[in-house]
Amino acid sequence: MSLENGLYIHIPFCRRKCDYCAFYSEESSSVPDSYLDALIREMEEKGGDAADTLYVGGGTPSLLSCSQIMRLMAATERFFPGTRREVTMEVNPEDISPQKLSCLKEAGFNRLSVGVQSFSEKKRRYLGRRSVSDMEERLLLAREAFDNLSVDLIFGIPGEDVREEGEVLGRIDPDHISWYDLKVEEGTPLQKRIDRGEAAEAGNDEEAESYAKLVAELETRGYRRYEISNFARPGYESLHNLKYWHFTPYIGLGAGASGYTGREMTRNPDDLALYMSGEGSARQRLGTKEKRNIEVMMGLRLEEGITLTEAETGILEHSLGELRSFLKLEGRQLSLVPDAFFISNTLILGVLERLGL
Ligand code: SF4
Repeated sequence: MSLENGLYIHIPFCRRKCDYCAFYSEESSSVPDSYLDALIREMEEKGGDAADTLYVGGGTPSLLSCSQIMRLMAATERFFPGTRREVTMEVNPEDISPQKLSCLKEAGFNRLSVGVQSFSEKKRRYLGRRSVSDMEERLLLAREAFDNLSVDLIFGIPGEDVREEGEVLGRIDPDHISWYDLKVEEGTPLQKRIDRGEAAEAGNDEEAESYAKLVAELETRGYRRYEISNFARPGYESLHNLKYWHFTPYIGLGAGASGYTGREMTRNPDDLALYMSGEGSARQRLGTKEKRNIEVMMGLRLEEGITLTEAETGILEHSLGELRSFLKLEGRQLSLVPDAFFISNTLILGVLERLGL
């Protein structure tokens, strides 16, 4: 496990809000230079420690122009020294072009995470995503340019066929896939469409079936599930995201970004004007119990699970009860059994409750 920080930079701008999205972002077709000024000010304040992973996420970071990307990367190198093992940018498929790809490589990115969400135009319409007619061609360009390519997908849409998505994945051949369950969030346009009866919602059984099918599909194609929603070819697990699941320190920069110093959680405001004025950031010191709660909650999302203390092992040996058939307790190592990942939330809550966390 790495002892160096992860560095996360949030770019909270999107061309248009997607119907299912409850994340904070502002609609804009470009990133104002004044936002980069604010990010660099925050780097000056928080910089000094080494970071071995960098993740530029959003929003839509691929809205950054090439000169902005160069400026941002020069600042990260100045304020956060160290050899980077993984440098990722989230990219919208619409922004993939030969020029963008060579700019990202020149700037030092060695991993792309492409927010596809679905290869099916029908599913993309349901999600309120923009249509990308040449999606596959763009992804093949990215595949050719980057040795480490990740694709983000969503399941949990009524009537979907995840095997069709698997066939497209087979042609693109990414190294890493994040395949998330759609959550219909309160107040989103998708939730309003469902409430008005204009869109259907997948039932729990349908979602469970899609999840089982996509796991089987990806395993057949040589990907290993290493986290509930994340699958990788051997050696391509996301080093940056593993810091979240292992709950090791990461620095979060930008509006709405959060971080963890090892003792405190930090949180920047979900408000551009407030963030740019340098106000509204919060810090929360974690007690031993709060810290352990997060370690267990995040760690159990991983296929490898968590290492318990001797006392915790003793408690669970006697109290697992009805959870026993869904969990594997070998010595002090606790993990979910493969078939239990779809109900992980219930199981994790059950473990936390028994451990008094
Ligand atoms: S889903 Fe992604 S691209 Fe769509 S609005 Fe949310 S952050 Fe932006």
